[in-house]
Amino acid sequence: MDHFELKDGSLFAEDVPVAEIATAVGTPVYIYSLATLERHARVFREALSVLPRIKLAYAVKSNPNLAVLRALARQGYGADVVSEGELHRALAAGIPAGEIVFSGVGKTRRELSVAVASRIGQFNLESEEEGVELSQIAAEMGRRAPCALRVNPDVDAGTHAKISTGKAENKFGVAYDRAEDIYARLATLPGLDMRGLAVHIGSQISDLEPSRRAFTKMGDLMRRLRARGLSVTNMDLGGGLGVPYKQGEVLPGPDAYAAMVHDVTQDWDATIMFEPGRVITGNSGVLVTEVVRVKEGVTHPWVVVDAAMNDLARPALYDAWHDFAAVRPNGRTITANIVGPICESADTFAMARTIDEVKAGDLAVFRTAGAYGATMANTYNSRALVPEAMVNGDKWAIVANRIEPETIHHAERVPGWLK
Ligand SMILES: *Cc1c(COP(=O)(O)O)cnc(C)c1O
Repeated sequence: MDHFELKDGSLFAEDVPVAEIATAVGTPVYIYSLATLERHARVFREALSVLPRIKLAYAVKSNPNLAVLRALARQGYGADVVSEGELHRALAAGIPAGEIVFSGVGKTRRELSVAVASRIGQFNLESEEEGVELSQIAAEMGRRAPCALRVNPDVDAGTHAKISTGKAENKFGVAYDRAEDIYARLATLPGLDMRGLAVHIGSQISDLEPSRRAFTKMGDLMRRLRARGLSVTNMDLGGGLGVPYKQGEVLPGPDAYAAMVHDVTQDWDATIMFEPGRVITGNSGVLVTEVVRVKEGVTHPWVVVDAAMNDLARPALYDAWHDFAAVRPNGRTITANIVGPICESADTFAMARTIDEVKAGDLAVFRTAGAYGATMANTYNSRALVPEAMVNGDKWAIVANRIEPETIHHAERVPGWLK
């Protein structure tokens, strides 16, 4: 459910006409609905309240905009960060350091030091080597870093290959069969406080069975560690729950997910942690675009829009589907290909899709663009970095300025020996 709906024939974001923002800011522009964000945050938390002790760390990478982080901080969410930049954003948004989890396979020495100095809540270690390095850094500062060991459960999440993270051939975590020994070894290091396990098998998960298998394996591992006298108090089950991208598509929601987790973890006696991203932000945003022109095609017309793969990369990266809708639909439909202006054939949003009839100058939106949208934007083809706006009832504000191509090119230098 979201708050982007037609009123009197025109698309609104909550109580603000999408066209009003598009006119004021220009296109392309992302629009986020605060009410939708808050609703998803609440629904996810309420579903999981069937578990006795939970911690929620919003996956910042899905949408790191400061206003989005602030909205989730107000909902009591912590943060799952994967870089120093995300750590600084989370802190800047008012998320307490103790509620921040640091994930990622390539945390640098510098990032580990900054995070120890910030007294973050948990490091999700991705290797024994990382644990050894972190122990040394923390011990030098007279600290013990709270840690979980990320384990690769070798389970296929059944999602797109590029967003699958829990198979043996993926780079994430330590091998399941090695995890017990690595955990035991790390638990002896002076700078670490080993307190649990972490797992995250992938994103846009639409079938709960792989997660059930992975979590069951993690429970077995937890019991083996405890049997060796090792302390395991925190079990981080990651994120990954999918969202519907196509109208009418039905995916397991937070309630079904929570029931599965409850079933698997009943006798765990641990704090269960979650790192939701897409399920909170996905439906909370749309990308507004203007039709540049409609060009005749061989089988279908080409609807050329002013948004491109640099603004919304998911279709080019993952063949992802985003529903496309006119801001002022006239009731007629056409079958068309939707493409951006970038000089790459990958800059294609849809082929042979039945959509609202649009013509040059019309506004339209790509829906469910709140997650992995603006955060992946770049300036390829010397395009602007896309702006972002947020709506709150009948109020709206720009929450990220457009960064003009001139700003990027002014940061470049021609060396003296080329002049
Ligand atoms: C990307 C990621 C998440 C969030 O994934 P979603 O599919 O957006 O919920 C959570 N945890 C880790 C470690 C991740 O890499």
